[in-house]
Amino acid sequence: MAVRHGIDLDKARAWHEREIRGFLARHPRSLALSERGRAHLLFGVPLHWMDDWPTPCSLFIAEARDAALTDADGLEYVDFCLGDTGAMFGHSPAPVAAAIAREAARGLTAMLPGEDALWVAEELSRRFGMAAWQFTLSASDANRFAIRWARAMTGRDQILVFNGCYHGTVDDVFVDLVDGAARPRASLLGQVYPLTEHTRVAEFNDLAALDAALADGRVACVLAEPAMTNIGMVLPDPGYWEQAQAIIRRRGSLLLLDETHTISCGPGGYAAAHGLAPDLLVLGKPLAGGLPAAAYGFSAELAQRAQQAKRAAPPGHSGIGTTLSANRLACAAMRANLAEVMTEDNYRIMFERAGRLAQGLRELFARRGLPWCVTQLGARCEFQFAPRPPRNGSEAGAWQDEEFERCIHLHLLNRGLLITPFHNMLLMSPSTAEAGIARLLQAFDDWLDAAQA
Ligand code: PMP
Repeated sequence: MAVRHGIDLDKARAWHEREIRGFLARHPRSLALSERGRAHLLFGVPLHWMDDWPTPCSLFIAEARDAALTDADGLEYVDFCLGDTGAMFGHSPAPVAAAIAREAARGLTAMLPGEDALWVAEELSRRFGMAAWQFTLSASDANRFAIRWARAMTGRDQILVFNGCYHGTVDDVFVDLVDGAARPRASLLGQVYPLTEHTRVAEFNDLAALDAALADGRVACVLAEPAMTNIGMVLPDPGYWEQAQAIIRRRGSLLLLDETHTISCGPGGYAAAHGLAPDLLVLGKPLAGGLPAAAYGFSAELAQRAQQAKRAAPPGHSGIGTTLSANRLACAAMRANLAEVMTEDNYRIMFERAGRLAQGLRELFARRGLPWCVTQLGARCEFQFAPRPPRNGSEAGAWQDEEFERCIHLHLLNRGLLITPFHNMLLMSPSTAEAGIARLLQAFDDWLDAAQA
């Protein structure tokens, strides 16, 4: 009997085959749409990542509301994926939907500012403590542009990222540590530039490595999530950021914090909740309640330096920005979302639900004698096939098990419970009900009945 992480491989695989057959039998319409999709869409889907779910054909969606999702076959799901954070506050939050409906007939984009942009920037400054903002369409863009500003402002050519990070499709950051050496991420498609010439990589939670990587004074910025969320969750050691910030400052580098996922930690993100003081800060995904919008902020000093850098450059293309960025509709949606949805009250509900789920999972694993751990980061939590919480990207990556993830995710999906296809992250919205959490814990227990060694 082959056993991995306490799971009997044969049992898990046999169960998974059964689940695949069950999915196909219950999803005739998704199957038909998947077949139709193959004619004119790569992989049959409009974004090839949508092919990464554990389902044997694409799961086509008819409608999504709050924390519930209905598929093309009329089956309902409790959605713990929430568009991988884009819909963190629930699908189509009523105030955002109303703002979009109100503004939709009054001009969608004009490449001119409106008053909503001012309100949004003022509110972002109040929450996140940054002095000045720029808007983009995606967190990927925000990170890409923030890196450009950081290099322009400092005159330094290098950046530093943490091993196992993800910051969107930003070429500069796809550098991994392989046997102690920086290497371009092996899975990149069509990337031809020598990424390691301008990007350094260190392990998270290793202060000595950080200091060594910044020592020559060539690093413009350290781009980091305050807690890693994309290779499984990795929390900072107690006191890590205090010391890391001091090192970054001493070496004359900037701290660019990517709060795209850690906005789950509160209305001002992880930085506000834990007293970090970044030089640049990126927000994305749920900022406009699910409409494409993102923002990046500058500290007061850097806002001055950025404007000086632009004024000092020859007139012409800056290479920063896209035409539809900061469009009217996105600004209206951000305003409604910040004013009425991303509220203290809603965060309180989300934290309470996430705490309940994390505790339920811990109890489940303890009762079954499984050495798996559960990490919570505000409104999101994650289970990992690891006996203790990983301290860096290498450890977290080593504990990942794609095969079991697919088995568990499909089992849950067949029971009306949707979780993010990449790793094991579960996200709470203000409308995630206790009953959904109880169902998830029961369904997980059932899978363990079927597959545990
Ligand atoms: N930063 C982080 C931390 C992310 O997790 C992601 C996406 N998963 C991004 C940036 C990029 O977001 P988007 O794909 O919306 O550009």
